[in-house]
Amino acid sequence: MTVSTDLKVYKNLIGGELRDASGGERIDSIDPSTGKVWAAIPQSSQEDALSAVAAAKHAFPAWKKTTAEERAAALRKAAELIGENAEALAALETQDIGWVIRETSYGLIPVLQQVWFNAAAGALEANRGQTVPLPSASFGYTLREPYGVVVGITPWNAPLFTLSIKAANAIAAGNTVIIKPSEQASASSLYLAELLKDVFPRGVFNVISGYGTELGDVLTSHPDVNKISLTGSGRTASTIARATADKPKPLILELGGKSANIVFEDADIDAVADAISTYSIFTGNSGQICVGSSRLLVHRAIFDKVAEAVISRLKNPQYKMYGPTLDPSTTTGPMANKSQFDIVRNYIQVGLDEGAELLYGGRSGGAEVAPDHSELAEGYWIEPTLLKAESNTLRVCQEEIFGPVAVMIPFNTEEQALNLANGTEYGLAAGVWTKDLSLAHRMVSALDAGNVWVNTYARVGPELPFGGTKNSGFGTDSIADYSREKSCVIELKL
Ligand code: NAD
Repeated sequence: MTVSTDLKVYKNLIGGELRDASGGERIDSIDPSTGKVWAAIPQSSQEDALSAVAAAKHAFPAWKKTTAEERAAALRKAAELIGENAEALAALETQDIGWVIRETSYGLIPVLQQVWFNAAAGALEANRGQTVPLPSASFGYTLREPYGVVVGITPWNAPLFTLSIKAANAIAAGNTVIIKPSEQASASSLYLAELLKDVFPRGVFNVISGYGTELGDVLTSHPDVNKISLTGSGRTASTIARATADKPKPLILELGGKSANIVFEDADIDAVADAISTYSIFTGNSGQICVGSSRLLVHRAIFDKVAEAVISRLKNPQYKMYGPTLDPSTTTGPMANKSQFDIVRNYIQVGLDEGAELLYGGRSGGAEVAPDHSELAEGYWIEPTLLKAESNTLRVCQEEIFGPVAVMIPFNTEEQALNLANGTEYGLAAGVWTKDLSLAHRMVSALDAGNVWVNTYARVGPELPFGGTKNSGFGTDSIADYSREKSCVIELKL
């Protein structure tokens, strides 16, 4: 593996100090567009995790006592710093995970700012409870209190967004926070930590990188950790649930999905094709988004028209600009890491072996997908791939692929469409495409999904809660989920 001479080295933020891992060990970060090492992050030890827990615990009592306006001011400052450093943050996220710069700079950074500003506004209400009149002239009220030390564990596919939504909301509600980003993608999170180093009192906001398997025990089982929010896989969620089973802690679990777009006969086919060929699955971080619509359920009467419309867009040169990820004209990036590249490649083969029909794509590897760019030959590129299946039981229709691969499945009736959409172990998101408002409402109510979009897709932002059902998890990273309600009754002697 070639090590670049201008290797960037990032540090943990623990107790307000930037620190290497205590053992001095590091993990290489690989630019997935080229397959080359470009940065190094701390490979923290359990000792470092213990330091982070101690720092967050120490900072909590004073942070809990701050006024809402003090917390809001700090959160607004964080949002401003993100705006001032937008270019660097967007470029780092791009280099770290291959998410093309046109999406990170124009899409991601404004959303990050919105998340931190929104948390600032929310801080002003985060701890308001309710008053409740009781019989016999008693009087009841509730307080909303922070949990204490919150651990946020984030995945590799959207490091800055998942860090922000957890840290900003937890801090707004008066908690102190430790973020553990993915060992596959920590550089942008560590850079953001450095930017925000002096925004909050020491120990309120900590970021520590390293292997989840090594740090997980301390970060999830330690008695001084009071709440855990994981965005990641079902496998890690099960490990954390087992680790906290004997001394239960409140969990937020934002897990995988197998989301469907459901296209009825009266749908606007151009709008559907635009959404499918771009942000819904193919260009949105190259399908590596948890709500990626990897199933496209289409009424049989318009199935061929929809397939044709999607394929014509995918063939259009404007949609297949594979190239350097930092070049703003590149529309489609690589898989974020080698293991995801292997997983997605394998799923395409599994689908074909199971009898799915290849409608478009299927190629992989930089040399095949981006032949005009020799520097990308070793990168983890997968061509957007559209499959057709007659049955929802294939593995590619049931298992999360997490890449630019979608399966089209025809249906005849509303009931069939609903059964197909709900017929997986996941329940994260769904899209409904129809002009019939009654049908849309029936679907919204009957779909087993935490988020439903009608005639649009993947509209995610801080204004609405975002969570899943079934194996997609529970809880949301909203401010309300970062405080608990305490009840008090006062007996009045009138
Ligand atoms: P992952 O579960 O492998 O890793 C997620 C995080 O958990 C990483 O930081 C990892 O180091 C940590 N971890 C691993 N083992 C641990 C342990 N024993 N204890 C504590 N932490 C541990 O997931 P991933 O591959 O990084 O992310 C992809 C997954 O995340 C996909 O399933 C995707 O759908 C899901 N995701 C969900 C949402 C959502 O909001 N629902 C958003 C983005 C991604």
